[in-house]
Amino acid sequence: MNELFDPDWGFSTLGIRAAEPRTENGEHSASVSLTSSYVFGSAAEAAAVFQGKAPGYIYSRFTNPTVEAFERRLAAMEGGESCVATASGMAAILTLCLSVLNMGDHIVASRGLFGSTINLFNNILERFGLSVSYVDMTDVAAWDAAMQDNTRLLFVETPSNPLVELADIAAIAEVAHRRGALLCVDNCFLTPVLQQPLKLGADFVIHSATKYLDGQGRCVGGAIVGDAQRVGKDVFGFMRTAGPCMSPFNAWVFLKGLETLSVRMKAHCENSRALAEWLEEQPAITRVFYPGLSSHPQHVLAQRQQSGYGAIVSFELDGGRDAAWKLIDSTRMISITANLGDTRTTITHPATTTHGRITAEARAAAGITEGLVRIAVGLEDIADIQADLARGLV
Ligand SMILES: *Cc1c(COP(=O)(O)O)cnc(C)c1O
Repeated sequence: MNELFDPDWGFSTLGIRAAEPRTENGEHSASVSLTSSYVFGSAAEAAAVFQGKAPGYIYSRFTNPTVEAFERRLAAMEGGESCVATASGMAAILTLCLSVLNMGDHIVASRGLFGSTINLFNNILERFGLSVSYVDMTDVAAWDAAMQDNTRLLFVETPSNPLVELADIAAIAEVAHRRGALLCVDNCFLTPVLQQPLKLGADFVIHSATKYLDGQGRCVGGAIVGDAQRVGKDVFGFMRTAGPCMSPFNAWVFLKGLETLSVRMKAHCENSRALAEWLEEQPAITRVFYPGLSSHPQHVLAQRQQSGYGAIVSFELDGGRDAAWKLIDSTRMISITANLGDTRTTITHPATTTHGRITAEARAAAGITEGLVRIAVGLEDIADIQADLARGLV
């Protein structure tokens, strides 16, 4: 492992050069260490490594050189001391909760969370004696008001899906710490290239590496980033025993993904901004949601907290569900899928897919109307994305 990297390097350099794994063979591009276990030269050496008295790898559920390289590089990019890679983004959230929470603890979370996260909190963690309150993420006073004596974790996803509302990370971190709780930010939508929650006061960052870290829709994985004690010792200790670890092959794909993350995120942002501005000019569209537009109610917060606006653009069509479905069905290139973080642009109708199983009242409260369409903007030529959408807008 090449330990010689400067944590002050820019994102492109860190993504390409930080923690580059290199064996004695001197390979230039990272190789993948596909082995479940490691051998020792002697009984004494095995004993020393098992007792932690000598460095070395034992078993890939505990540590693996390729997984470790991905963890160190992502930690460097997020400005964290430690990172633990997991089998999926959901495994990262579960691992974090089971590492830092105890029976009877309370979580305060933003209302618009990823559907599986809400399911995990409400239908699984509650069975083990944890409770959750949901708040309007944009309202700092609401976070404060939801705090209880047993609140241990605040959990937020910013920007939210699909309306790209923002939470003020620094203000919510202050609420958490004043009340003796910890803040976790799901940074999946922006990646460290566009937002670094730890530097704004968050204690943990969660990733679904499945999205932009991979960037080409190949592998499922996740990660938790934070300090050397809570993540490096507590979360790692849970992970190595409970076993929701990342496969070395997937770690290699993500490690290569990090090499192009900076340039990809910039290109995603450029396409998204151009698309959002173009959508705002279309007569059939009544409203466009994108933090990069000056019409976005939190545009100023986005400028302060983020170094780019991300690649999720949502908009409302005049004609309700009929118009939304007609637009979606008129596309020939854009993929009809709820996935995101891919080179390929995707389109989805939140009211009947990602948010189809909540009640109509809950949907209305969340601002998810029948005319709402969400685009996760990919890296195709912007003219082709626009042409594909224009067909259904007439
Ligand atoms: C996809 C996603 C997750 C879950 O990640 P998986 O890798 O699918 O388990 C969590 N949070 C957000 C914001 C996501 O988009």
